[in-house]
Amino acid sequence: MSEFTIGIDLGGTNIKAAIFNNEYKTVAETSVPTEAVKGPNHVMNKMKDIITELIATSHLSLADIKCMGMGIPGLLDPDEGLSIFSPNFPDWENIHVVNIMNRFFEFPTFIDNDVRVNLYGEWRHGSGIGYDNLVLITLGTGLGSGIISNGKVMYGKTSSAGEVGHMNMYREGRPCKCGSSGCLGRYVSAVGMVNTLIEKLSTGQKSIIQEWTGQDPSRMTAKMISDAYDLGDKVAIEVMHETGRILGFGLSNVINLFNPEIIIVGGGMSAAGDRLLHIVRETTAKHALKLSNEACKIQEAQLGGRAGMIGAAIYANDRLK
Ligand SMILES: [Zn+2]
Repeated sequence: MSEFTIGIDLGGTNIKAAIFNNEYKTVAETSVPTEAVKGPNHVMNKMKDIITELIATSHLSLADIKCMGMGIPGLLDPDEGLSIFSPNFPDWENIHVVNIMNRFFEFPTFIDNDVRVNLYGEWRHGSGIGYDNLVLITLGTGLGSGIISNGKVMYGKTSSAGEVGHMNMYREGRPCKCGSSGCLGRYVSAVGMVNTLIEKLSTGQKSIIQEWTGQDPSRMTAKMISDAYDLGDKVAIEVMHETGRILGFGLSNVINLFNPEIIIVGGGMSAAGDRLLHIVRETTAKHALKLSNEACKIQEAQLGGRAGMIGAAIYANDRLK
């Protein structure tokens, strides 16, 4: 009987893949550079190769694999198995990922959005266990999110429900790739936070980060803001505070709209942890509806960079049923 599931997290930088047993314990795991610039054919062949290799190193055969789940960034149609567009993948247009994988492997493949597979992971295997009303926010280069309402993952008509990152926070704000401006993700993300820092420095404020980077804005990172914050750097504290407040206002809207029991904050930038989250909690306490806010915890994610792989495997098994 097939007992193993493959979970893949296809990122712009790396392809992360793992084989899980029925309890979602990792049997084998790997990560290789995506090399997205070499085009979709190269990426698809690379995935085929690492899956084949992963099965071989686990001393398993194709017949042992029940199904495979894949998290892919960008616009997609999960029912069709079609990846429509992915911003960090050049020439990536209408790639029928499921059909291609079906040509390589006899087990079924299911795809979903990268943030949504993270959501499945945290919901069933991380901070979200036992909750029926849950919102996941991922803070990385941008701000991603996924929503579970009454025990169901929300998709919407075009599978684009829950784009909290494009919630408009300012009528005329920083321009966004979506064509609008003032979107939450332009402020609350690694890139957004660094831009806030650069804006402050351009008005003549001084930060230790300038010494660390030789005044070169292109070398400034969100991690440096956290480090400078810990050293009591005034500008870094201001940046953290403002970022936390904007996220707090955004999440007040999310709390009022969806009445979640828990909001889980994950992604690379969530390493800022309580430096950021205590300001977020303070803000939602003042601005969200009281009853809803009191019913909602705001907490860090548990699975870190592995949420996507585990979530993709969980999602595939759900779809198989
Ligand atoms: Zn936007």
